[in-house]
Amino acid sequence: MKNINLKDLNIEKVHKHLKDGDFTVGELVDSYLEVIKEKNVDLNAYLEIFTKDIKPQVENAEKMFKDGTATLMTGIPIAIKDNILFEGHIASASSKILGNHVAVYDAFVIEKLKKEGVVILGRTNMDEFAMGSSTETSYYGVTRNPFDRTRVPGGSSGGSAVAVASDMALVSLGTETCGSVRQPSSFCGLVGMKPTYGAISRSGIIAMGSSLDQVGPMGKTVSDVEILYKSICGKDPLDSTSLSDEFKSNFKQAPLKKRIGVPRDFLSGGGINEEVLKNFDESCEKLKKAGYQIVDVTSETMKYSLAVYYIIMPAEVSSNLARYDGIRYGFSEKAQNLYDVYAKSKGKGFGKEVRRRLLLGSYILSHGYHDAYYNKALKVRDMIARELVTIFLDVDAIISPTVPFPAFPLGDKMDDPMAMYMCDIFSAPANLAGIPAMSLPSGKTESGLPLGLQITAPYLREDILFTIGKDFEKLV
Ligand code: GLN
Repeated sequence: MKNINLKDLNIEKVHKHLKDGDFTVGELVDSYLEVIKEKNVDLNAYLEIFTKDIKPQVENAEKMFKDGTATLMTGIPIAIKDNILFEGHIASASSKILGNHVAVYDAFVIEKLKKEGVVILGRTNMDEFAMGSSTETSYYGVTRNPFDRTRVPGGSSGGSAVAVASDMALVSLGTETCGSVRQPSSFCGLVGMKPTYGAISRSGIIAMGSSLDQVGPMGKTVSDVEILYKSICGKDPLDSTSLSDEFKSNFKQAPLKKRIGVPRDFLSGGGINEEVLKNFDESCEKLKKAGYQIVDVTSETMKYSLAVYYIIMPAEVSSNLARYDGIRYGFSEKAQNLYDVYAKSKGKGFGKEVRRRLLLGSYILSHGYHDAYYNKALKVRDMIARELVTIFLDVDAIISPTVPFPAFPLGDKMDDPMAMYMCDIFSAPANLAGIPAMSLPSGKTESGLPLGLQITAPYLREDILFTIGKDFEKLV
């Protein structure tokens, strides 16, 4: 077996090594499989390795190198979250109800990746139906943080984060409804991005909250995340919210003002861990050294984001998950009448957190409460988005810590949903406003837990995240 130093690799380096013949795609993939064999039993990042498919994918990638049709993504070993459909493979959203659900078509992002000749290694553990911030609500056991195995990796894309952080894949795909790519990236020392709503098609992604859901790339460097992002973008007729290149070209890439805003009053609301605050201040200093002006910005509405998210999201969840009725597909419990089929299938097929949100969502949308909760939340969502547009007239981007605290011990917040929801406080504005945001590794706590800096940019200005991100990562 070839001795390849996986820690040191990124997409561009791999591409060069493969082109120069330093190692083959097969040798590279074998090295990752070796690490998976050694570490996955304990970390539980992968629910399944697609053993049977690996050989044909490797052969295809090697052929592309021989033909001269290889792209930067060809031969790159990637992990995918368990809510992304890959034809012929189980996609369970880490739920019992979809435990033996085999995808009958490829998600748009999988189609794209297949064309580029990537090697999809396996599907990764997640919070059930992407509801959670710790990967503990999965029906298939918890995933552990490789920096401290007694702690959570974050969630809901915890498996995708751990796969990359522990060299069980070079890059991975997660999904976001509110922070599920950024938060585990922050807890596991990775770069993770939530793109603009509509930048990537959600066709073939198991839905959670459709006005919020996006696929997001995760990797060790900004450049890896950028390359992966660009390879899965694009208009898809099967997702009416996906944006065309023509539409995107209307958003002129204005030059940077080199001014970054800090929503100081939002951050001073309390509840942020001291080491996180100190690390954030250090990140601001680093950005100043890189030539950015750091200014305070005022927001009247950001503080409402979390409350608004936890009204809109369960409403959409209750509507999206109505399809798991125990009749058409998925887990089903025999019963005497139709009502019992629904009640028993959902009652036994869904875990506690999912059921909590279904009940909440149905309540929010019910007659008499719809206006008071749902419609009001939509109005505040609009105010948040509009205020952000105004703030971005003055600054290129907004920064904050990604999460108010570092990775917490397993089990710590499972009995306290409100405490768990607090993980999302800095994530929510970007999802509600449909704008792009990225988490970058910004250092570690004294005990060695990774911390993250979040950068949020205006609509369709992912380029700003890449530019600032690259400047920042040179200084950490
Ligand atoms: N923590 C968020 C929640 O529980 C995660 C949602 C997501 O991004 N999938 O709703």
